[in-house]
Amino acid sequence: MRVVIYTPKIYTYGAMLIGGILKEKGYKVHLSKNFDKTLFLKADVVIYSLYSTLHILDDNIKNSIKYLKNIKKKLKIYVAGCVSTYPEIILNEMDVDGVIIGEGELITPKILEGDNEGLAYKEGDEIVINYPKEKPELNHPIPLIPNDIGKQNIRGANVYIETHRGCLGNCTFCQVPKFFGKSIRSREIDDIIREVLEFKKRGAKRIAISGGTGSLYNFKKSVDKNKFLELLEKLSSILGKNNISVPDMRVDYVDEEILEGIKNYTIGWVFFGLESGSNKILRDMKKGTNREKNLNAIKLAKDCGVKVAGSFIVGYPTETEKDYLLTKDFIVDAELDDIFVSIAEPIPTTELAKLVVDTPKEENPIFIEYKNNMSLAEYRCFDLYLHAEMWKSNPRILTKQLVNIYLNDAKQQGEDIRKITNLLFKYKEYIKRY
Ligand code: SF4
Repeated sequence: MRVVIYTPKIYTYGAMLIGGILKEKGYKVHLSKNFDKTLFLKADVVIYSLYSTLHILDDNIKNSIKYLKNIKKKLKIYVAGCVSTYPEIILNEMDVDGVIIGEGELITPKILEGDNEGLAYKEGDEIVINYPKEKPELNHPIPLIPNDIGKQNIRGANVYIETHRGCLGNCTFCQVPKFFGKSIRSREIDDIIREVLEFKKRGAKRIAISGGTGSLYNFKKSVDKNKFLELLEKLSSILGKNNISVPDMRVDYVDEEILEGIKNYTIGWVFFGLESGSNKILRDMKKGTNREKNLNAIKLAKDCGVKVAGSFIVGYPTETEKDYLLTKDFIVDAELDDIFVSIAEPIPTTELAKLVVDTPKEENPIFIEYKNNMSLAEYRCFDLYLHAEMWKSNPRILTKQLVNIYLNDAKQQGEDIRKITNLLFKYKEYIKRY
């Protein structure tokens, strides 16, 4: 059986992993990040591995499915990936044979053999959902690594590899605990090393560790610093410290030893999800941190010689002008080395999505018209970028070009999130049930 896994624009780790598993089971598998009609029409099964709600609304993706279905009636088309936690929406929006729900290692091969475990599909007007019975172990075969992996650039890395799954956090905007669960499952170090050696052999030079919070690797009842540091040391000895990054960290899961490890065995940056300078908004987001803890962690990292990037979320439905100004103040106090700003994205199945559908549109910052043809959320995103640029440890001159980059980014985010929000309103009943 020929299988194509389509992963729009980037090779995701999850798609490569499922490719590796299917290949090991004897399937002929191709991984493609572009819609290649000839390749797709030769397949018996095409799996659309989708990682953004926007993919469900993307006309190019929808039209590609229609095209394939028209020409090759027997072709089976499934959707998989992190969008699969809301199968009802996908099955109503896309003409596919089914949705492979959640973590796909165990169920995908069975579904290709005709089993329904882990599959959601339509039967007439009814939607049938068979949730997977168990979660997979994490030691797996070598992923299907494409030849051009060395050319891929995702925030500076060729690939984000997986060391563990799950997160202890409750952040209202995040899908990680819902998709992977709240208990931590970790891979063996030897298994990770074997995989990294293979990525290196196939041309990958820079690798990042994905999965919520890097230092939760091997977490049992507490953080296992020794294992985390051993992992970093081994990865660094293979690729060199300048080619390893552990971008995502929670401020409450770092200490001096962990930060020393980040400095000694990686590019020497941490990326904290700081989100807001307002304790009220951090509570609304169930972030489990506060302004003081955030400032302390930033200081600790800097004292250890680690560079700190922070990400912020604006346009949260409950964010007031005062909350927003507190975020601006926080940025002045924090003196970060780099800053990323996002408008709150309500991913279906998250608490934020429920809050968004319970908030009248005229009260949602993404729909409130503000200044210069921008919504309030877009304006705050743009304004915070400009503000942050002046208060970074190493401020850049705000050229017209840089201002335009930030302006366009804020407007694009606004447009995307309005589309997603309208989708949520269309499926309000499902959103409230998730
Ligand atoms: S944002 Fe980070 S800390 Fe919060 S739930 Fe998601 S992965 Fe966990």
